[in-house]
Amino acid sequence: MRTTNILNEISDGKLYDIEDMVKADTCGCNGCSDCCKDVGDLVVLTPFDIYEMTTYLNADFDKLLGDKILLRENNKITLPYLKMQDKNKNCSFLDKNGRCTIHSKRPNICRLFPLGRVYQDNDFKYFLQVDNCPEEELKDVKVADWINIENYNENKKFILEWYKFIKA
Ligand code: SF4
Ligand code: SF4
Repeated sequence: MRTTNILNEISDGKLYDIEDMVKADTCGCNGCSDCCKDVGDLVVLTPFDIYEMTTYLNADFDKLLGDKILLRENNKITLPYLKMQDKNKNCSFLDKNGRCTIHSKRPNICRLFPLGRVYQDNDFKYFLQVDNCPEEELKDVKVADWINIENYNENKKFILEWYKFIKA
C-alpha cells in the first residue's frame, strides 16, 4: 500500500509495459545532464552493467574501482555504485561537454530515466517520474524504443533473477 502511495506521488499514476507508449522522450536532452549529477546513491550497478562497461572500456573491474565505481553497503550487502566526482558531484563517466562517455553501454538504470521500474508479482512494470526531468515538452515514445535494450527478454529475466537474489 505504501509503495502505491509513493508511486502516485512521484509518477503520473500509470504503469507501463514494454510495448506501451509513454511521454518520456526528451528528444536528445538539449545539452542537459541533470540526471547524471549527484546520483551516486541511486545508480546501483548489476553484474551485467559491470560486464558491459568493463568490456566496452577494455578495463577490468579493479581498474574502475575507486575512480569510476564505488562500493557501498546497503541493507547489509555491498554492491557497486557509480562514483560521483568530489568537486562537482558529476558522474565519473560524464565528459566536460556533459555527455556520457559510455552512452551505448550505460547502466540499466540510466537507460530508464525519466522512467522507473516497479516490481510486483515476480515481474516489473515501468512508471513515468514527474517533476525530476527539466525538459518541459516530453514526447510520446514506445517504452521499448526509449530504453533500447538488446535481447530484452533475456535481459528482463536476468534483472528479475538479480532482484530476487538481492532481496533474499
Ligand atoms: S534530466 Fe531529463 S533532459 Fe536532463 S539529461 Fe536527464 S533525461 Fe535528459
Ligand atoms: S553512466 Fe552515463 S548516463 Fe549514467 S549517470 Fe553516468 S554519465 Fe549519466
